[in-house]
Amino acid sequence: MSLDLIILDCDGVLVDSERITTVLLAEIVSELGWAVSREDSIALFKGKDMKIIRAMVEERLGRSVGDGFVPGYRRRMAERFATRGVPAIAGAGDLLDWLDARGIAHAVASNGPHEKMKQTLGRLRCNGDMHDWYARFEGRCHSAYDINCWKPDPGLFLHAAEAMQARPERCVVIEDSCSGVAAAAAAGMRSIGYADLTSAAELRAAGATVVADSMHEVQRVLEVWSDERGG
Ligand SMILES: [Mg+2]
Repeated sequence: MSLDLIILDCDGVLVDSERITTVLLAEIVSELGWAVSREDSIALFKGKDMKIIRAMVEERLGRSVGDGFVPGYRRRMAERFATRGVPAIAGAGDLLDWLDARGIAHAVASNGPHEKMKQTLGRLRCNGDMHDWYARFEGRCHSAYDINCWKPDPGLFLHAAEAMQARPERCVVIEDSCSGVAAAAAAGMRSIGYADLTSAAELRAAGATVVADSMHEVQRVLEVWSDERGG
């Protein structure tokens, strides 16, 4: 086995939350006076941590948006998750089952706080049923807030690898955002860019080792890499 660890991003890789949160961010930022479309919101904000997003909004508006900006966003996000539920990314459940069956270690590494992961992974709609993937990943969910280090900094992935006693060159990161694949490259890890809301070309340009447009394709790449000898 040439793979020590698969590190999965949460939003946009396991949970289809980005479709909800990018729309909400567009609404909030537009309410503050910067007219941002859903497409703009994806291009500008997806995969970035909230401190960076707040700074971007303040720079654009030329004024402070106040300390209530991030808590207000989190409160409205939690309400949306609670009322609408959060669907799993298509094929993510099958991928996790396959990793379990193959005995390949895997963990979650998210720029979001644990509270958000509990709201999404913990109440997930997958194949018509509710699932608690936060419990499924108990002890293997890593948040950037645990170490105060956010992607594209490689620190979170290196932290996850160390926690699982994995060597970076034998880790594979699965990411849907440019900041995530850039973080993987900086950590010396291979990455599979899952091209959904962000295009394959953008993910490649940001440093993705390969790109895939479905979780089935992600699994196919992992099958090839896990069968490689040595490493
Ligand atoms: Mg993501």
